[in-house]
Order: sequence, then structure tokens, then C-alpha cells
Amino acid sequence: MIQLVHKDGVASVVLTCDVCGEPITDAGMAIVRWKRSKDLDNIVTDLEFCHKGACDKQIEEYLRYPCWELRHFLARLVVSTGTPPENIVEVIREASAIGLMSKTDEEASTE
Ligand SMILES: [Zn+2]
Repeated sequence: MIQLVHKDGVASVVLTCDVCGEPITDAGMAIVRWKRSKDLDNIVTDLEFCHKGACDKQIEEYLRYPCWELRHFLARLVVSTGTPPENIVEVIREASAIGLMSKTDEEASTE
């Protein structure tokens, strides 16, 4: 689930695990999955985000769910919005400059 969390007058975007409810803080350790459709041409709107490991195994039929690693999903999202990668770096710098990201986020963006 994607949430806007307001704290101390600042809104942050937080992606939480749909299984345990905890924030997802490592896109390489999370997935997005959806129920398979028999119709090859379809639009999926019921996406589920969860941590890899214990959380993605809590749903009995998890093996039948198609999924992508979260970082690959995010890359596809960026591409589909027509945002070149160099613009993402610029947006992260702007968000940092106006205090929309914590120092940890800022440090992570330069790695
Ligand atoms: Zn979880």
C-alpha cells in the first residue's frame, strides 16, 4: 500500500507491506505481485506489495502469483511515466534541498 505520512509538517511517501503492514525500505528485498488472469489482454489494478521471505509466503497460493522484484517494478514505473533516469537524480536532489527527504534517504540516493 502506498501512503502519505505526515509528520512534523512534512509529508513522506511510504510503501508498506500488504502482509505485515511494516514499511518497505529496501526495494531489492520486496516484491509486487498480482493474481494471474486468463485473459492475456487485461489491466491489473489490484497490486500487492510485500517483503520477500516470510511475508510473501504467508499467502497459500503465492507460487501461482506472478511477481516482480520491487526495484524492477519501480524502474518500469519510471520508464512508463516518461521520466529519464537523469531527471530522477535531479528530483531527488531537489527533494533533499527542500527537506523532503531524511538524511538517510539522501545518502542512499547517492550510492
Ligand atoms: Zn512484510
